[in-house]
Amino acid sequence: MKISAESEQQGSYSIECHPSVHCEERPSGSVIDTIIIHSMHHPSPSGGDRFALSECKACLDSVELSVHYLIARDGAVWNLVPEEKKAWHAGESLLPSDGRTAANDFSIGIELVGSEELPLEAAQYASLVALCRDIGTRHQITGIFGHNHIAPTRKTDPWNFDWSLFASELARDNSLKEVTLPKDTTC
Ligand SMILES: [Zn+2]
Repeated sequence: MKISAESEQQGSYSIECHPSVHCEERPSGSVIDTIIIHSMHHPSPSGGDRFALSECKACLDSVELSVHYLIARDGAVWNLVPEEKKAWHAGESLLPSDGRTAANDFSIGIELVGSEELPLEAAQYASLVALCRDIGTRHQITGIFGHNHIAPTRKTDPWNFDWSLFASELARDNSLKEVTLPKDTTC
């Protein structure tokens, strides 16, 4: 899958703020060092488009969950929770790298809009990589994992995520070179 030259440029994507009330302060002393990648859609959207960001946010709101960023099929990004606050996306969790639990305390959550049966779009990878690089300029990120890696008995997302593509795109820039990625990068 090729990512266009235009969308490779950091900062070429746009971020709109659509604040969620479903968040809280992080525990004092928390250091943000992890990114958790998810995927979602609205299973029964009121407006008919299960991939619309407004529907996905409504779905999260309806179950009092949240995430820091939503990435649409066309690569557009919504910010729901400020990075310094704790979003409710990971649930019961355990990091495979160091055994830490309660990933919401120290992670930034990103939802890619998608489904179990469809591949993710190139524009989504481009925005995700740019977003991760941006986050890396604000926080010392040491690990990026999928929800399925930190909650393997409960979660299967991010669906159809190409970790090899993601890793190779990240490797084009040295800003996140110290980051640990899942070992099963073919999942
Ligand atoms: Zn998830």
